[in-house]
Amino acid sequence: MGNKRRDFENIRKLLLQKKSILMAADQNISEEIKKEIENRHGDDVDVAESAYEQEMAYLFKSRGQGELKLINEALRKIEKGEYGVCAECDDKISKMRLAAMPYSIFCVECQEEMENKGPGENAMFHR
Ligand SMILES: [Zn+2]
Repeated sequence: MGNKRRDFENIRKLLLQKKSILMAADQNISEEIKKEIENRHGDDVDVAESAYEQEMAYLFKSRGQGELKLINEALRKIEKGEYGVCAECDDKISKMRLAAMPYSIFCVECQEEMENKGPGENAMFHR
């Protein structure tokens, strides 16, 4: 009975792996943007274009950070033995769902209800 930490050892490993990938990607993006801007500096390039690139980079970055936050939250829940329980209704989240979406903190029903409320702050994830 109950969710023991070792029940989620595989998911925990997966999350840690994903976390390090995201953090590395974040690092790479920052480096690339820096290089890009340096390369273009003094060039006669279209300012609008590089502004657009910066915006894309920002979107990409903030998206990665949102994911990172979810991963950290899931890891914290595993440590505390709260993982796999819906944050909204306290129902258990099915293992199938957790395997597909390791950092879901809501059960299917609550998730669907939230999505039906229309675009929220996560709307850009679905674009
Ligand atoms: Zn729920």
